Amino acid sequence: MSTEFLSNRVKNLKESATLKMTQKSRELKEQGHDVIALSIGEPDFNTPSAVKEAAKHAIDNNFTHYTPVPGYADLRKAISHKFKRDNDLDYSPEQIVVSNGAKQSLANIMYAILNPGDEVIIPSPYWVSYPSMVQLAEGTPVEVPTGIESDFKITVQQLEDAITENTKAILFSSPCNPTGSVYTKEELEALANVLEKHPRIFIVADEIYEVINFKGKHESIAQFKNVKDRVITVNGVSKGFAMTGWRIGYIGAPLEIAKACNKIQGQYTSGAGSISQMAALDALNIEPKNSEEIQEMLKAFNSRRDLVVGLLKEIPGIKANVPDGAFYVFPEVNSFYGKSNGSHKIENSNDLCMYLLEKVYVGLVPGEAFGNPDCIRISYATSNEVLIEAMKRIKAALAELK
Ligand code: PMP
Ligand code: GLU
Repeated sequence: MSTEFLSNRVKNLKESATLKMTQKSRELKEQGHDVIALSIGEPDFNTPSAVKEAAKHAIDNNFTHYTPVPGYADLRKAISHKFKRDNDLDYSPEQIVVSNGAKQSLANIMYAILNPGDEVIIPSPYWVSYPSMVQLAEGTPVEVPTGIESDFKITVQQLEDAITENTKAILFSSPCNPTGSVYTKEELEALANVLEKHPRIFIVADEIYEVINFKGKHESIAQFKNVKDRVITVNGVSKGFAMTGWRIGYIGAPLEIAKACNKIQGQYTSGAGSISQMAALDALNIEPKNSEEIQEMLKAFNSRRDLVVGLLKEIPGIKANVPDGAFYVFPEVNSFYGKSNGSHKIENSNDLCMYLLEKVYVGLVPGEAFGNPDCIRISYATSNEVLIEAMKRIKAALAELK
C-alpha cells in the first residue's frame, strides 16, 4: 500500500534509532545468529522483589480502575517527598504529573510550552528523541554541538550564543544519554546564571539517570533559586529501579505547566497504568543510597564502565572519554570513515554500525542519531563476559578496515 495518505507529521518523523537498531538485532537473533545487542539502554537487572510484590498486591486489591489523570495522590506525595529527600527540591504534589515513562513526560512538556517557531536549545550529543519531540510539537530544535574535548558539555559561551528572542526552552540530560557526562554543581550554576537573564526560557532537566552516577551526589539545576520557578525536572523509575517495562515517569514543574501536562494527558492517555503506579510507589519509598540492591547495581555499572573504557583504549583508531554516569560510552570512530574491508565501505557512523552488526553481530547505535556523526553509542548494561566478547568482536572487525 502507498503511504501517501499518511500525515506530513508522520512522514517527516524520524524513526527512533535506538529502537530500530534493537529491532534489527532482535531479527538477526531470531534468524539464529549469535547477536550481542548493546543498542538499547536498559538495565539488565530485574526489578527489585519488593516492587514486584507491591504490584501483585495492587492487582489482588483491585487497583485496576482508572486513576486520577496526574497519578494517584499517594504516588504524587511520594514523588514530592523523593524530590525533597534526594534532591532538596520543593515540588508540592500538585506540581507533579505521572506519565507513561519519562518519554511521555518530555513529550507532554513540549506540547505544553511550544508554539510554531519556538526554539528549543538542545546541546548535542542529545538523547535520540529530543529533536523529534520538539518537531512534533511544531517547535524548532536548535542543536548546539559539543565535543569530546569539553567532555560533551555545553559551555556558558555556547549557551549565550544560542539564545535568541525565539528561545522557549533548553532541554538536556545529566547524567547524559548518550555520553554519560555529568554536569557538576558549578557547571549547572554557571548555566543557571546565564538563564537567569532570560526569564522566558524554560529549563527542562532530564534526570532519568540520576541514580547511575559514579561521581557521587546528583545535582539538579532546580536547586538554583534564580531559575527554580522555570525548571521542569523530569525523572522516572525506568533506569534507577530497573523498571523500563513498567512505563512510569514523572515531572516536578511550575504549577501551570503541571496543570497543562495534566490537561494534555487527560485527552491522550488518561494517565499511567494503575498497577505500575502502585509498583512505582513502592520503588520511590526506597532511598537509593540506602538500598543494597541499587548500590550493587551501581557498583556493577561502574566496573563495567571501567572494563569497556579499558578495552576501547586497546583498539587503535578509537578515542573515548570516561563517562561519569548512565551506562553508555560514546567513542569517536571517525578515523574509520573512508575505509573498507573489501565488501563493506564505511562512510559514516550508520555504515560502521551496520558493518559491526552484519559482520560480527554486535548491535550499537550510530552517533548520527544523537547529533554527533563522529561517534557510536555502546550500552554497557550487560554482563562482563558479554562485554568482553563484544569488544573482542568489534576490535577484530575494525582491524579489517583498511
Ligand atoms: N530520557 C533519557 C535521556 C533516556 O535515555 C530515556 C530512555 N528511555 C528516557 C528519557 C525515557 O525513559 P522512560 O520513558 O523509560 O521513562
Ligand atoms: N532510552 C533508552 C535508549 O536510549 C531506551 C530506548 C528508547 O526509549 O529510545 O536506548
